[in-house]
Amino acid sequence: MVVEHVVMMPFMAQGHLIPFAALAELLSELHSLKITLVNTPHNASKLRSMMNPKAAGAIDVAELPFSSADHGLPPDAENTDALPYPLILRLFEASETLEPAFESLISDVARKDGRLPLCIVADVFCGWTVLVAERLGIHHVVFTTCGAFGTLGYASTWLHLPHVGTDADEFPVPGMPGVRLHRTQLASHLRVADGKDGWSIFLQKHISLSMHRSRGDMLCNTVAELEPDGIRLLQTMTGSRVLPIGPLLPLSLFSENWARERGGKPLGISAESCIAWLDTQPLRSVLYVSFGSQNTVSRWQLKELALGLEASGAGFIWVVRPPLEFPMTAEFRSEWLPEGFEERVKDRGLIVKGWAPQLAILSHKGTGAFLSHCGWNSVLESLSQGVPLIGWPMAGEQFYNTIMLGDEKVGVCVEVGRGKEVGVDREKVARVVAEVVKGEKGAEMRRKAAEMREDLRKGMAEEESGGGSSLRALDEFVASIVSPHVHFVA
Ligand code: UDP
Repeated sequence: MVVEHVVMMPFMAQGHLIPFAALAELLSELHSLKITLVNTPHNASKLRSMMNPKAAGAIDVAELPFSSADHGLPPDAENTDALPYPLILRLFEASETLEPAFESLISDVARKDGRLPLCIVADVFCGWTVLVAERLGIHHVVFTTCGAFGTLGYASTWLHLPHVGTDADEFPVPGMPGVRLHRTQLASHLRVADGKDGWSIFLQKHISLSMHRSRGDMLCNTVAELEPDGIRLLQTMTGSRVLPIGPLLPLSLFSENWARERGGKPLGISAESCIAWLDTQPLRSVLYVSFGSQNTVSRWQLKELALGLEASGAGFIWVVRPPLEFPMTAEFRSEWLPEGFEERVKDRGLIVKGWAPQLAILSHKGTGAFLSHCGWNSVLESLSQGVPLIGWPMAGEQFYNTIMLGDEKVGVCVEVGRGKEVGVDREKVARVVAEVVKGEKGAEMRRKAAEMREDLRKGMAEEESGGGSSLRALDEFVASIVSPHVHFVA
């Protein structure tokens, strides 16, 4: 029997591995494709641990040799979540050295199958895979694990440098009509990027390869109904057809009482303890606070956030990460929090000192809002449960996610802070949290988030006639790789 094989290469970050693993499962379950997911040894074991055991047999996880020490990185540091911020660029740069091993892995796959793989599906940050695909004559498709509007904003701001020297604090963004960014909506390294620094060199090269040189469609972890404008604008920018195939979340997340975790990390608190605690809280009364796998705030912001949460009067589950001044792996220290804080809030606040069972928390009926950095996985997970967001974007495309979700038409997010070092104080935290968790504004946001939950559910619904919009887009993608032809968008 002919093996229809797809090789997939995610970037080495938690928020990228998760949707790649979910896409691999969908392609193998719904389209009977043979999938090889490729990454460095540590990320490969993370990928294996994320996999639904049922799908694991049909999906190979292949390892490329990689030694972090060769790149001046700590031992076994192969994922952004294992690194302090100043070393993250080094991991990005090190990822380029995977190119020759990736190419020989594909040659091995082709030898074994007796034919080339149908297609390489690669991360935006793995632009070097476009060159491998060209050399081997394989179809190449980019998968952006972010939303369409976020991908567009991120790519456009990096491709149109510099943003220093602009007289105005606010400026337009090419490709995003009507949007004016404020300088505080740029990540700190983007604010000072001049095209010659390490970040600019890496990102301009890989974004250009992925978005302009890759000839295939672009797969996007979003839903047509959620951001039609973003999808249209991203198509215009790339000249490729953008297929919204999300939300790439475990399908079981749409059922009640979802409690399985896919982070591949030891939990700082068990899902059962969180659920037991949430069971004791009033309906939709708890604020969940977390900034994802790799972001944190400064020490004084952490204290302002703590005092703001306390003053809001709301119940909360807060995943406390070490402040910026400490490595992300540092053990929790009580002096990070205001004196006496833990004791004062112990009846209404649960502090998680480590990795939280986020999906179990968001899918519990006690959870009423999510104070988040607006990383795209967190956004999709929250909206899939009808939970609105309080945004505190910090890096990457999170600023654009917050803009899109806070837009009047969408209305499921309100911003409370911005960046890792500026712009938040306890009064503002207390006011916004109280408004969203207990006030009229929050009730309206929850109503809109509940509508969005339906859109997200419908996107992935198999029972819709011919499948929901995302499953139909996935069908179109598979049809296009089985008989490839390039779709240009006018
Ligand atoms: N996550 C989790 N527990 C935590 C922190 C994060 O399960 O304590 C998961 C979260 O559910 C999401 C992912 O890690 O799936 C974070 O991805 P996101 O895109 O939101 O943010 P990133 O970490 O990429 O900035």
